[in-house]
Amino acid sequence: SPTGPFTYQALPMRVTMGAGAVAGLADELDRAGLRRVLVLCSPRQEHLGHAIARLVGDRCAGVHPHARTHVPVATAKAARAHARDVGADGCVAIGGGSAVGLGKALALEPGLPVVAVPTTYAGSEMTPVWGLTENGRKRTGRDPRVLPVSVLYDPELTVDLPAHVSATSGINAVAHAAEALYAPDTSPVVALMAEEGVRALHRALPAVVADGSDLDARAGAQYGAWLCGACLGATTMSLHHKLCHALGGTLDLPHADTHTVVLPHVLAHNLPAAPRARAALSRALGGVDDPAAAVWELGRALGAPRSLRALGMKKESVGEIVGAVLAAPYANPREVTADGLTGLLRRAWAGEEPV
Ligand code: NAD
Repeated sequence: SPTGPFTYQALPMRVTMGAGAVAGLADELDRAGLRRVLVLCSPRQEHLGHAIARLVGDRCAGVHPHARTHVPVATAKAARAHARDVGADGCVAIGGGSAVGLGKALALEPGLPVVAVPTTYAGSEMTPVWGLTENGRKRTGRDPRVLPVSVLYDPELTVDLPAHVSATSGINAVAHAAEALYAPDTSPVVALMAEEGVRALHRALPAVVADGSDLDARAGAQYGAWLCGACLGATTMSLHHKLCHALGGTLDLPHADTHTVVLPHVLAHNLPAAPRARAALSRALGGVDDPAAAVWELGRALGAPRSLRALGMKKESVGEIVGAVLAAPYANPREVTADGLTGLLRRAWAGEEPV
């Protein structure tokens, strides 16, 4: 068979997309039976948090503008206390993966339903994966309760997303799709979403970076981010995500930037052992011969960071990361050896072309 045997379990996602979509937020809350939501956002998006509060009127119990990347446990505790104090029965997370991640922490405990209004392309809103960080260690888990009950993608809310974050969180989304294509639990449905998601992002990101107020391009990027996020939610990730998790958790490197630097190198390693994924990515990236090189070129065209060195990593840390990645078993289409991984990381550190 062209597909192989598979299991595909659809996640119960409700998605509304389009310019002005956020105007339907109050209706979405009513639909979910939420009467007093706490609005969550990062400090820099506090104005968006208050705009959401105005939009939903007396359904808003407060604005909590304290989301932080990787959801520190103390941040989750403070949000839980705020939610309890105002008697919140749900939350609205507006912003990137940091705000959505905080919403997921409230969905775990005390169990508040989340409505997400994503404004980056990270895709967390499409996954049942939560994360909490304490003492420099990030714990993650899967729990269907953290999946938002409704997601509103409104490109008008993304026009201020800086070119840099647009580019790197967009390539972060491409990484979800790429690894979903060779995941041990991939399926024909996931493969369709992944290929289309990469196609949409490849088309939209250069236009988004050239003109952040181009609403068609913004909508195209959100469409791609949705599909790629859904692929992440449906499958098990491999070397690329394990490596970025280790780099982010151990060395505190910036999340989307790290994904952007590492992805071409992991694809160069993995795709020779994953011909179907390679073919899908080739098509999605415009009929190219070498998807790893094409992703590397995309990063260059978008002005994204090229090296782990530029992100603040020290060369001496390569060994520590190799050890961390090899210590935890995970699925990968191609064997990962200490030598192979060391070479890959050295190239990514120096900003060399993927080989
Ligand atoms: P982020 O949420 O920190 O946002 C990145 C930057 O964009 C921030 O500076 C933020 O202030 C800014 N920003 C967001 N919306 C904006 C807007 N509308 N206008 C202007 N600026 C805006 O980062 P991210 O890349 O979106 O997400 C990364 C986090 O999400 C990490 O903690 C990562 O682990 C997590 N994540 C989790 C999953 C999952 O499935 N659980 C998936 C992807 C990412």
